[in-house]
Amino acid sequence: MFQKTLSFDDVLLVPQMSSIKSRKEVDLSSTINEKVFKLPIISSPMDTVTGAEMAATMSENGGFGILHRYNSIVDQVEMVKKSNAANIGAAIGVTGDYLERARELTDAGVFMLCIDVAHGHHISVKSALANLRKHLGEDVVIMAGNVATAEAFNDLEDWGADVIRVGVGGGSICSTRIQTGHGVPTFHSVLSVALRAKRALIVADGGIKSAGDAVKSFAAGADFVMLGSLLAGTDESPGQIFSSNEGKKYKVYRGMASAEAQLDWKGEANSLEGISTTIPYKGSVKNMLSLLDQNIRSGFSYSGAVNLKDFQQKVEMIEQTQAGMKESFTHILTK
Ligand code: IMP
Repeated sequence: MFQKTLSFDDVLLVPQMSSIKSRKEVDLSSTINEKVFKLPIISSPMDTVTGAEMAATMSENGGFGILHRYNSIVDQVEMVKKSNAANIGAAIGVTGDYLERARELTDAGVFMLCIDVAHGHHISVKSALANLRKHLGEDVVIMAGNVATAEAFNDLEDWGADVIRVGVGGGSICSTRIQTGHGVPTFHSVLSVALRAKRALIVADGGIKSAGDAVKSFAAGADFVMLGSLLAGTDESPGQIFSSNEGKKYKVYRGMASAEAQLDWKGEANSLEGISTTIPYKGSVKNMLSLLDQNIRSGFSYSGAVNLKDFQQKVEMIEQTQAGMKESFTHILTK
């Protein structure tokens, strides 16, 4: 009755024989409807992660961003215009003005809409997908989520989603598992949906705290990774930089179901499933993306793989014990 599950830290990838001479030989690209993304990284639709500047920079660096939906339609469309409508996605909900919002956003030039709800395996996502397809046709790419199981993934595919966010309760600022008891480790979810995916692309989302976790997500079957905390705290993330008394610089990073975020966008807070926190200021997101790019390339080359498909065929995963995990993290002796 109880199924054993694995989290990112429970697994390691076994190095394979490699004939790759330089990380440059590795091609990380992933494709959505013939659009090629050199870097398979998506910035999350959160109000402390993706505004116009982040979306534009993500796109310039080979990935893409999804503009958050916590504003008026006019403001969100303004963000699209400011990001020069490069390769940009935009989030919508499933109630209220979502259809009008979707129309305005596609008119403004976004290539992708993202139905952005916490529990994606929901009847209202089914009707939103049906409505969007009815009114906007088949051309617009639709991402939906979040889901945790293969059954949910298959339902969303059947309901019309092209790309699906996989991961419930794993986000660094998320308290869903504590407050509701529900969720599935993101690595396990990705692994299980990849075995049954029919058509839609898989986005691993929530709890990716290092390039290594991104590499493990691809190993489990993801086509893209979505990042929140790794990209927050940068120059391009929305929000002010502030300094502590010791002169250290910070920015705010908050869950969209935190009290602070809910109060800002709807004036009341209920059903809290996230926290608001500060994270150290990291400088330009370009540097962060470059580091991730290099480390993910190294990851593929440790498995002797030249691209994502090759990597997913060659990769060998093992489970590590708590002692193994201790050894994996830096552990310099203090005495
Ligand atoms: P991170 O990369 O671990 O920081 O996780 C980011 C992801 O957490 C987002 O892409 C969302 O899927 C999820 N998320 C955002 N806000 C909340 C929240 O308030 N509660 C739960 N999950 C959230």
